[in-house]
Amino acid sequence: MAVLKANAYGHGLVTIAQHLNDADAFAVARIDEALALRAGGLTKPIVLLEGFFDEADLPILLANNFQTIIHDENQLAALENAQLEAPINCWLKINTGMHRLGIAPEQFDEFYNRLQKTANANNTVNLMTHFSCADDVDSSKTMQQIALFNRLAENVEQAHCLSNSAGILAWPSGHGDWVRPGLMLYGVSPMANTTGKTYQLEPVMRLTTKVIAVRNVAAHEAVGYSGRWQSDKPTQLAVVAMGYGDGYPRHARAGTPVIINKQRYGIVGSVAMDMITLDIGNNTHNIKVGDEVTMWGPELPVEEIAQCADTIPYELLCNITPRVSYQYQR
Ligand SMILES: *Cc1c(COP(=O)(O)O)cnc(C)c1O
Repeated sequence: MAVLKANAYGHGLVTIAQHLNDADAFAVARIDEALALRAGGLTKPIVLLEGFFDEADLPILLANNFQTIIHDENQLAALENAQLEAPINCWLKINTGMHRLGIAPEQFDEFYNRLQKTANANNTVNLMTHFSCADDVDSSKTMQQIALFNRLAENVEQAHCLSNSAGILAWPSGHGDWVRPGLMLYGVSPMANTTGKTYQLEPVMRLTTKVIAVRNVAAHEAVGYSGRWQSDKPTQLAVVAMGYGDGYPRHARAGTPVIINKQRYGIVGSVAMDMITLDIGNNTHNIKVGDEVTMWGPELPVEEIAQCADTIPYELLCNITPRVSYQYQR
């Protein structure tokens, strides 16, 4: 199931979904995201990874072929109490060590049996768990989670779903029947110190803007808000039309790379809402107003930019704001 939450990780929910012909289902976090997919004409089954939040939503699930996670007693009781015209497809979420959502292992038999019994749940109750440390190949946690899941699920002839992208890339014994790739669908790696390329993944997003000014600054002229940066010798700056108002991380360190005409340049000064300054030295490559600037993309991995901003690539992708316009190419 292709994970499309948070506007398909900032890539555009409906357009991305329209191109995932091979997915057997879609997965989102919230019912509004699922409804947006239906409004966009998408017909595949959709799994709500947090389940429903309100009993009143159950008829909407049924009417739209949304499948729900059942992760706690409140949800199960609401499902049992509802008056529904047909059963809903359910995934029983087991907490095997993430300690966020999911029933305790010792609740498994009770929940499974109640889901089998209620007419509001389809008899095929699939099983799901989520890994907490799958991006860390040195951690024993994932194997412990897989073992616990398998112990509970071994007598249950239903589909098993364990792995996010990191599980898919690093833990083959956790693949089960269904997998839930999110980040890797977009060509980006969740594993530490790697990029999509490490796994032959091709980044989908290229975030670009343009140079809007090239200017000289003298030695010790403080540039930008708070005068945060100055050069100790005369230099040139390129000013580019991109900032945290577009989703570029404000905390990107001095020296965080961008690419102009195949050359890397480092950002200097504070990232502002609308602009970023680059030190282009004596401008040996003749950067001009109007030149395209790549902030991240296939030749400048978003994983690298995330490291420069002390965050993870997930956050940078999701943070793209509505001001950014999208162009799609095959
Ligand atoms: C977001 C999410 C995924 C996808 O995770 P990636 O690391 O992006 O592959 C899978 N399962 C659950 C429950 C999620 O919340």
